[in-house]
Parts: sequence; structure tokens; C-alpha cells
Amino acid sequence: MLYLDNSATTPILMEVKEKMLTYLTEEYGNPSGKYYGLAEDAKKAVEEARSHVSQLLGSYTHEVIFTSGATESNNMIVKGVADLYTDKGNHIITTKAEHNSILDICRFLETKGIEVTYLDVDRFGRINIEDVEKAINDRTILISIIWGNNETGSLNPIKEIAELANKHQVLFHIDATQAVGKVEMNWHEHPGISFLSASAHKLFGPKGAGITLIRSNKYKELLPLTPLIHGGGQEHGIRSGTYAVHNIVGLGEAARLAKERFDQNYNRLIELEEHLLSILHSKFGERIILNSDSEDKIPGIINIRFKGLNNEVLLKKLSTVIAASTGSACSSAKPSHVLQAMGLNLVEVRESVRFSLSPYQTKEELDIFNQL
Ligand code: PMP
Repeated sequence: MLYLDNSATTPILMEVKEKMLTYLTEEYGNPSGKYYGLAEDAKKAVEEARSHVSQLLGSYTHEVIFTSGATESNNMIVKGVADLYTDKGNHIITTKAEHNSILDICRFLETKGIEVTYLDVDRFGRINIEDVEKAINDRTILISIIWGNNETGSLNPIKEIAELANKHQVLFHIDATQAVGKVEMNWHEHPGISFLSASAHKLFGPKGAGITLIRSNKYKELLPLTPLIHGGGQEHGIRSGTYAVHNIVGLGEAARLAKERFDQNYNRLIELEEHLLSILHSKFGERIILNSDSEDKIPGIINIRFKGLNNEVLLKKLSTVIAASTGSACSSAKPSHVLQAMGLNLVEVRESVRFSLSPYQTKEELDIFNQL
């Protein structure tokens, strides 16, 4: 079976599994313990993982906070800002093409007196930078915008948004869950980005491990946030709870490998994407329409409309040979809000399929489409 749902989740790499196993078995110490070897070893492993993540993202190690995944990171950041910056204002800017873990938080916060502007997106799912500037007012406390869209792969202009955020002194969060490891991120080059969220299981790491990056000042002080999870004081008191050492170690190893193999993986994804598109074009001709842009996108994520074919029927029929999806796994029961925000009508949405590739696949594996 050809697995083309790598945006929903990825398998863990063998190297990741091997590292994790050690911390599920013999190295079972609690990193918050002191003096004895098991605790010190676990602490060292967590800090090593932190260092790998910071090297992948180009941040300082102390800016990396471990969470249970990007849903938690998004909640931590958006709710944490909404709670702490009430003196400054009550307005958040986001987009209509976010992952549900942002949209649901915003809808919840609206019931608590926060005003939210949901920016329109263009036909590929990107915001218009002028709309961002127009939406900023003197009560705006946060701009939260997805970097690479999980359904189309389109990249938003985070450099330009970061400059705007800096100019207007507004905090800026990017949901980088799909882009990390596939698009270069150098955190130090974008001081206007205040927060970033990401997840291990999109990166060939384990499920249940995530990243929140928080910008620090020259005294190594992180931007303040109200914690989502109070408790034992781990992670500077910003994210309490006993460390899931095996998951964190797995995330660290996945980040290390993503950095080491970045160029190779990037080129491979481009090559595979071109190959898949050429097969689909020759097989389906005029009957397919690309919902994804051909440039300025995450390599390996393609959203395609099969004119006249219902996506659920198609995917069900293919399910023994090809695994793909109609969009985000987290909202697969409903027609995609992202494609609707891009201007597709409900019929067109129901004809659309997302294929998401892995750099560990081969062109030969994709040739299975020729046999359909
Ligand atoms: N944001 C985006 C863009 C995503 O694609 C996902 C995962 N589908 C999430 C957030 C949530 O990530 P997690 O599964 O780690 O909670």
C-alpha cells in the first residue's frame, strides 16, 4: 500500500524508534530528579533533544518548550496571550484557512470577550499582506497565521508579516506544524516572530510530542505567557508535567535527522511531486485541476480536484492500494473549510483530494498510479 497521507502523520524512523526504546526501558529516570544517574541521564537526554530542535529551527535552546503536540502549543500560545495581555487589548488576527486547533480556540475566546478578525485568503490559501496591516488596530494583541497550509501546502509570507508585527509592536505566532523540516527556518532572522508551534509526528517522530518556540530578549528572558498547564514548574514553569522523556528523545532524534537530511529530503520531495503530477496529468488530463499553487509551497503536499469524481468514493475505492485524504485528518468529517475559504464551492470541495508525500518514498512506488 502506498501511503500518501504524510501530512496527517508520518511513520517514525528506525533511528527514532531505537533511541526511544532505551528511554522506555532501561533509562526510565525522571529528569526533574537530582543526584542519581537515572535522573541525570534522563535530564541530559532531554537537553540533547532540545539542542537538536533548536539547531533545526535556528533558535536558542532556552526558547524551546516541549509540549504534547501542536494542538497544545497552539492552545498554550493563543490562550496564554489572550489571558495575559488584556491591559493592552482584546483583538486577535488570524485567517480563515487555519488548522482547526487555531480556529476552535479563537471561537472559544470570542465567547470570553476577545474579538477575532478572520482574514480572507486567495485561491491558494494565502493571506494578502495589506489585509494584515489593515486589520491591525490599537487593541490588537496577537497575529496568528499558519506558515504552510496543511491542506494545500501554500506558504504564507511570514517574513513580511513579521516585519509588520514588529512595526506595530504586535505579537506574532506561526503554526509551523507542516513546514518544519521541509522548509528552511532560521528563527534568529525573524525577530518579529514571537511564537512558533510544531509537532514531532509530522517529522518522522512520535505522536504526543510537540514544540513551542518562544522569543527571548538579550537577558534570555522569554516573552511572558499565562501557562496552559500549571503544576510542577518544568519548562520554566510555562509547561508543567513530568517529561515524556521517550517522546522528547524521539522528537530530538527526528529533528536531528531532519536537519542532517534537509537538502536531500527537500530535493527528493520536489522530484516526487513532479513525478506524481506528471503521472496524474497524463492519466487524467483535463479532468484534474490543481488546487495547490505550483510555487511558494511546502514540497510534497498536493491538493487536486478530480472533476466529476466524489472524493470519498474515490478514496474508499483506492484505500487498499493508496492511502490519501480529503484534507485535514482532524476535521475529515466536514467539507474542508480551507478549500471553501479559497473560493471552491461544495461540489468542488467534494472532488478534492490531498496527496502528501514522504522523502523516503521512491518514484517507482508512485508508478502504482499508472496501474489504476
Ligand atoms: N496545526 C497544523 C497545521 C496541523 O497540520 C496539525 C496536525 N494535523 C496540528 C496543528 C495539530 O498537531 P498535533 O497533531 O500535533 O496536535
